[in-house]
Amino acid sequence: MPAASTRTCIGCRRPAAAASLVRLVVRDGRVEIAAAGRGARSGRGASIHPTEACARAAIKQRAFGRAFRRAVDGPGESAAEVAAFTLAVVEAGARAAESLGSNDTSTAQEQTGRTTP
Ligand SMILES: [Zn+2]
Repeated sequence: MPAASTRTCIGCRRPAAAASLVRLVVRDGRVEIAAAGRGARSGRGASIHPTEACARAAIKQRAFGRAFRRAVDGPGESAAEVAAFTLAVVEAGARAAESLGSNDTSTAQEQTGRTTP
């Protein structure tokens, strides 16, 4: 069993280390970003790269309903909603990288290169 679990990004649909992805959960029928590394292991979740490209791709593909296997009030395709979701995902990724950097330098360095296309 590998030390780091792998999940599939709902944006680009490529597998990646769970630690490099932002986790999404559904709360009260709405898609929310789960706090990094804290609880939220129960129930169905989805993971996404903290990049604008993947956030946009997920919305365009309507990936949320498929990922959560239920109708969810996910981010819509309006410019404002796309921008808000993209920002939230990217910021969550930055916070996760910061917290990882405090106790695992090698992982943090890995994180730095992850948004390179
Ligand atoms: Zn991705």
